[in-house]
Amino acid sequence: METTLLVSHNDITAEKVDIIVNAANRTLLGGGGVDGAIHRVGGPDILAACKVIRQERGDLPTGQAVATTAGKLQAKYVIHTVGPIWTGKDIPAMKGLLADCYRNSLSLADNLRVESIAFPNISTGVYRFPKELAAEVAIRAIKRYLNQFSSQIKEVRFVCFDAENHEIYQKLFSQG
Ligand code: ADP
Repeated sequence: METTLLVSHNDITAEKVDIIVNAANRTLLGGGGVDGAIHRVGGPDILAACKVIRQERGDLPTGQAVATTAGKLQAKYVIHTVGPIWTGKDIPAMKGLLADCYRNSLSLADNLRVESIAFPNISTGVYRFPKELAAEVAIRAIKRYLNQFSSQIKEVRFVCFDAENHEIYQKLFSQG
């Protein structure tokens, strides 16, 4: 099935999709940025579900993804994934971990049998991953996954919050 990739310039909590992806931290206990916004708008059920997962599994390793209720958000689920903190060292490994976030989130979304998913620009806020590089990794990881697996996802949205990321994604999309 063909999957459409889209770019939007929005607060991800306002997106009408089946799954909203959260750029969480390893504790799953909430934070600032997009994580703060998702918990604020989604309400306390999301944190309660994260705490159960944390009790069972401990910290979530970088690159991995877990799903919870979406609480009061319009989505069916929130997928929490942990992006790498940019250090400027071992860039191939950093890129691999960021690609894992997108791949593992899509795989989880496929297991949940949903049709649409929205991603924030993982790691490009307080985790300081260079935005252009992060966008290239994100788009490539998603295209690779969709080429490799038969997915029932009809729509993948890259939701850019800041203007700089939005410009970068628009440029990369116009280049094909
Ligand atoms: P990280 O720790 O992974 O860097 P941040 O939340 O600090 O996570 O930033 C990740 C990206 O999320 C940044 O590009 C930031 O502009 C964006 N962002 C912040 N708030 C929102 C929001 N409400 N909706 C969508 N994206 C957001």
